[in-house]
Amino acid sequence: MGKVALLKCKPNQIKEKVHKALDLLGGISEYVKKDDMVVIKPNVLCAQDHETGATTSPVLVKSVADMCLNAGAEKVIVAESSNWGIDSMEAMKECGYDKIADGEKIVLMDLKKGEFVKKDIDGLVLKSINIPKVLCDADVVINCPVLKAHTMTKVTIGIKNLSVGISSDEDKQHSLHRIGLYPPLSDEMEKNGSWLDQAICDINSNTNTTLTVVDGIYGLHGKGAPLFGDKINTNLIMASDDRVSIDSVGSKILGHDAMEVHHIRNSYNRGMGEIDLDKIEVVGDKISDFKFDINQSYNTSLNGIPSNVTVINGCKNCKACLSTMTYVLSRHKDEIEKMNIPINVYVGKYFEDKKLPSDRRMHIYYGNCAGSHIYGGGFVPGCPPRSRRQFIQSIGALDIYKQDEGLDTDR
Ligand code: SF4
Repeated sequence: MGKVALLKCKPNQIKEKVHKALDLLGGISEYVKKDDMVVIKPNVLCAQDHETGATTSPVLVKSVADMCLNAGAEKVIVAESSNWGIDSMEAMKECGYDKIADGEKIVLMDLKKGEFVKKDIDGLVLKSINIPKVLCDADVVINCPVLKAHTMTKVTIGIKNLSVGISSDEDKQHSLHRIGLYPPLSDEMEKNGSWLDQAICDINSNTNTTLTVVDGIYGLHGKGAPLFGDKINTNLIMASDDRVSIDSVGSKILGHDAMEVHHIRNSYNRGMGEIDLDKIEVVGDKISDFKFDINQSYNTSLNGIPSNVTVINGCKNCKACLSTMTYVLSRHKDEIEKMNIPINVYVGKYFEDKKLPSDRRMHIYYGNCAGSHIYGGGFVPGCPPRSRRQFIQSIGALDIYKQDEGLDTDR
């Protein structure tokens, strides 16, 4: 039976509640022994403060690290591999992690710049993976994710944080995030979800997780999550030594049955933990104490985009472009409508059966998949594109971006 400690937690109670949660599991000394080398993996996917709901609070990580040191750990390494193209060390510094590291007992590490160990595996989709050596060498691995909705995987909690979030930039780009560029999976393979859903399980099942401590002080949901989206004051923390159970409880709080979240169900099917809420002992507060109106970023909706924009949706395997594009369009709805120019935005690459408007209009190809179809018009590169500025610039409205960012619009 899985056991999950679930506690209400205000932003000023983090240290006290982390202690209480781990005590409810039997105390940190159940997991950390004298002279252990501990690796803590937060979620610092980008340089956004934890109060945005995108990243793990450094206070939570410091609380866990101090408990490990008090239990006799030799050293705690806070290790991160931020989103593709983002300098992990810079992101951690921007998020305040430099203030919790002392350079001796608690040190920061950019996993992207460390050594990787190649492992041949018999995964659902991956046959070989690269795991950071420091994670293979660690005596104890503590995963400290955030509680967030996710466009492509419904939720991102612990299992996903310790899969994509430990991969090199090259693996993120070529094995995990170019899903729409590959041929669609067979019907049989699709029963286990998308390529990403299965790759997450392939990587996570080949790594150790001693404990998961979830930062649910602020969650993130809605269009653009897990990077943009809307913050939600979930005011909770969770802890467990069962990585599937804690993701199952977190999914429930985010409005999903974990059996419908492919990467969690795949992990359960592989025997990595308990998914059935009836077989998980929840200690502390009750799941029913946490009720939120979650705007599912997974259901990428075109409601709320400017009325002069027509989206030609050619996505089959992947919704990442659709998510970031609808986020930018809805954010600038009024300004783009004022331009009064009909615009087609192409996303994905399966356009064969799409009926296109025949009037004169601007054509924008958003993302590398759509880029393979360019025949005139603007192109916003990326997989998915990461620059809001580039998208706005491509429709000839850079001033919208500049005003939004408080930049000088005359330049
Ligand atoms: S370009 Fe966009 S739709 Fe294509 S694989 Fe990348 S993120 Fe997915």
